[in-house]
Amino acid sequence: MIRAIRGFKDILPGEAAWWQRIEAEARRVMDRFGYQEARVPVVERTELFARSIGQDTDIVEKEMFSFADRHGESLTLRPEATAGLVRAVIEHNLAADGRPLKFFLMGPMFRYERPQKGRQRQFHQLNVEVFNVAEPLIDAELIVLLDHFLSTAGLSGVEIHLNSLGCPACRPAYREKLAAFLRGKMDLLCPDCTRRAEANPLRVLDCKVPTCIEAVADAPRTLDALCPACQTHFDAVQAAMGGLEVVVDPNLVRGLDYYTRTVFEAQTTDLGGQNAVGGGGRYDALVKTLGGPDIPAVGWAVGLERLVMLLAEQGGLETEGPELFVAVLDETALARAFDLVQSLRRAGLKAEMDYAPASLKSQLRRAGKMQAQRVLIMGPDELNRGAGTLKDMVSGAQSDLPLNLTAEAMAERIRQGGF
Ligand code: AMP
Repeated sequence: MIRAIRGFKDILPGEAAWWQRIEAEARRVMDRFGYQEARVPVVERTELFARSIGQDTDIVEKEMFSFADRHGESLTLRPEATAGLVRAVIEHNLAADGRPLKFFLMGPMFRYERPQKGRQRQFHQLNVEVFNVAEPLIDAELIVLLDHFLSTAGLSGVEIHLNSLGCPACRPAYREKLAAFLRGKMDLLCPDCTRRAEANPLRVLDCKVPTCIEAVADAPRTLDALCPACQTHFDAVQAAMGGLEVVVDPNLVRGLDYYTRTVFEAQTTDLGGQNAVGGGGRYDALVKTLGGPDIPAVGWAVGLERLVMLLAEQGGLETEGPELFVAVLDETALARAFDLVQSLRRAGLKAEMDYAPASLKSQLRRAGKMQAQRVLIMGPDELNRGAGTLKDMVSGAQSDLPLNLTAEAMAERIRQGGF
């Protein structure tokens, strides 16, 4: 037997209903907030991710699915969506007129991580990205949008964490200060952080290893080192939150190098522990780094597996059964019933049947399991009479349904019942 690859998961019909609901909700919310869908390839040149995400990040160091194509060029399955979208914005010159570009994107991402509950090698994200808006109001809109999407999707206990990482004017001095602080804590740091302490000291703030958390407890904070422009921006983001409460979290740095100023994360306190369902931030330097114009950008990503998992643990999902199940009692009625089901479907009715005759009892059981609203019984008697027996599955009431009606008229009668 050939099995799926480790960390790659099937989404089977029962579970797919959750995905459909979340995706439909995402599209509704995005439309209301004025974000348009973009779709970009799942494979890009490796260089794109190495240059955007950063060499000293976990993703680029050890989590990319990279391979050489037949000409020896190194390609990578996208580990995140931003880089590909930025590439498309540059390649198609979408930002040239300076107007705000508001995009969303849904699809699979690939990271070579150790699979565990809620963490896979192929997983899915909803991404939102805005280009050409430097104003703090858009950071605030994105945070409000993140919170709104998660709560309309049905998630409760969402908590937004917020921080500012400064900009090229103030971050280098902060980085030096932090690196100097970490030099005095080397004996407490995990092997990864010992290495990161010089190359990428901010990442140490984010490490989940207990000794590292202890080591950085009184580390210098980015929020104390912001330049006046970054401080003004950060204050304005907070002031524009409306009624939404956010937690200022000085240790929030997030895993990618390209962030500037605002970073945020949505965590849920449900299920006891803290879970990051999504996060993002501002990345004003990225478009230029990738060879494009010097334009500001900001975005976020939500992990859909994690959202599905949390929602499924919070409660059940109602799915709607067919409006009609046609029960076929013998071979003579089968072809007629099959035609009828197809034409009722074309007339807009959600109709179902078995593809072979069976006892009425077993077909009623199947219709009940599917949560069919009504059953139409068709056997030799019904064909002779020219009318099927329509039965309501809730009340048990029955009535005759003439078989010579048009499909539209029949669909209408079935919906009304006429008992
Ligand atoms: P990131 O791009 O790392 O900020 O991740 C954004 C969101 O994607 C996270 O909050 C998770 O919900 C989700 N995510 C990231 N990596 C994985 C993974 N390996 N498996 C499942 N979900 C993931």
